[in-house]
Amino acid sequence: MNHERSRRLFERASGLFPGGVNSPVRAFWAVGGTPVFLARGEGAYVWDADGNRYLDFLGSWGPLLFGHAPPAVVAAIAAAAAAGTTFGASTEREVELGEAIREAFPSMERLRFVSSGTEATMSALRAARGFSGRDKVIKMEGGYHGHADMLLAAAGSGAATLGLPGSAGVTKAAVADTIVVPFNDEAAMRAALAANRGQVAALIVEPIPGNMGLVPPKPGYLEALRRLCDREGTVLIFDEVISGFRAGPGGAQARYGIRPDMTCLGKIVGGGLPLGVYGGRAEIMKVVAPDGPVYQAGTLSGNPLAMAAGLATLRQLRPEDYPRLEALGARLEAGVRNAIAEAGIAACIQRVGSAFTLFFCKGPVTDFASAKLADAKLYAEFFHGMLRRGIYLPPAQLEAAFISLAHRDTEIDAFVSAAHETLAAMPVLR
Ligand SMILES: *Cc1c(COP(=O)(O)O)cnc(C)c1O
Repeated sequence: MNHERSRRLFERASGLFPGGVNSPVRAFWAVGGTPVFLARGEGAYVWDADGNRYLDFLGSWGPLLFGHAPPAVVAAIAAAAAAGTTFGASTEREVELGEAIREAFPSMERLRFVSSGTEATMSALRAARGFSGRDKVIKMEGGYHGHADMLLAAAGSGAATLGLPGSAGVTKAAVADTIVVPFNDEAAMRAALAANRGQVAALIVEPIPGNMGLVPPKPGYLEALRRLCDREGTVLIFDEVISGFRAGPGGAQARYGIRPDMTCLGKIVGGGLPLGVYGGRAEIMKVVAPDGPVYQAGTLSGNPLAMAAGLATLRQLRPEDYPRLEALGARLEAGVRNAIAEAGIAACIQRVGSAFTLFFCKGPVTDFASAKLADAKLYAEFFHGMLRRGIYLPPAQLEAAFISLAHRDTEIDAFVSAAHETLAAMPVLR
C-alpha cells in the first residue's frame, strides 16, 4: 500500500494543526505511524488520498449507522442546502426531528438541539444543576462525555490514551465538584452519594460505555443507579451519544428498560452532520432559557442541514435493522473468538449489538481499571496488521469499533479472515 500522498498531507497538516489533526486520537498517537488521510466513503468502505480502499469499522466514531453517504441522507442534505443553510430562526424541520426523537425516546419530554455531543452533556449538566440547586456531579472513571471542563476528570479514551489524568488547562475549581467512581460498582456509587448527601445534582453515565473500549453494564447495575438517584433526588443523565439509535431504536434506555431523567444524544441522530441533543423530564427542561434561568444558546443550533440529515436517517430506520445489526455483530464476535482461540492469545472481544472492542487482555473488562490491563502495544500491532489488510479500525485500544447497516456478511467475513491472519502473525503472543 502506497501512502505517499497521505504522508505529504500530514507534513503540511503538522505545520497547521496541533499534532497535525483536529481531534487528538486521529493522530495515530496511540498506534504509531502517520495517519491516513481519507478522501471518500461509500457504504462500508472508505478510500484514502492515495486511492487505497479500506473496509471501515471506525464509522467516524459512531455516527454512520447506514454507512458512508447513504443516498437518502445525501439527497436530503442537498435539498436543504439549496433552500438556505442557516436562518437563526425556527424551522419546521426542527419540530419534525424533535417529534421523531421523542417518539423513540419518550423520556425526553422536552429537548433542545445543540451542535455537538460536548455541548449536549455540558448543557444537560448546567440544567440539572439549575434545576436541583446543587453543585456536585458524579461521573464514571473512564467515562467520556466530550471535553467540557467539569467532565474532563478521568475521561477515558482520547485523554487516557494520551496519558493525561484529566487535562492541563482545566482548573482545580472546574473539577472540584466532579466526583469520579468506577463503572459497574454499585457499592462505590452508594458510598459516593452517601458521602455527599443532598449535594449531588446529577449522575452522568454512558449506559453502555464505549470510551474505555466497549463495556457492557452488569445485570442490575443501571437499575441500581436509577434507584439510588431516586432516593437521593439526583438527576440521572444517560449520555447516549454513542448508544442512542445504536443499542436499539430507543437506545440503551429502551434496551435495558430504565427511564433516565435526562438524555444526551449525538453522533447517529445527526446523520453525519454536527448535531447534539439534550432533553428530559419537562419539569427539569423548564429551567432552560427562555422558560427559565439556565442560559444556553447557539447560532447554528437546529441547523437546517443537520435537521435534514437527522430526519432522513431516522426515517430510513426499520425495526428489522436492529436484529440485522445484532446478527452481523454476533457473526463477527464468533469469528474473532475463534481467531483468538486458534492464535492462543490473551485477548477478548466485548460487544453490544453493532459496537465492539477487541481487548488485548484476558478479560472480562468491566471498568476502567480492568480496561487499562489491555496491552496497547499489541493493539497497535493488530491495528497496523489490519490496516495493511485493508481494514480500518479505531487507532487506539480503548475505543469501540462499529458495524453499520451497509456491512453485509461478506464484509464481516473479510474482517474475521483479516483478524485470523493478523493474530496468527503476532508471534509475541504465543
Ligand atoms: C463522542 C461522545 C461525546 C462527545 O460528542 P462530540 O460530538 O464529539 O462533542 C460525548 N459523549 C459520548 C458518550 C461520546 O461518545
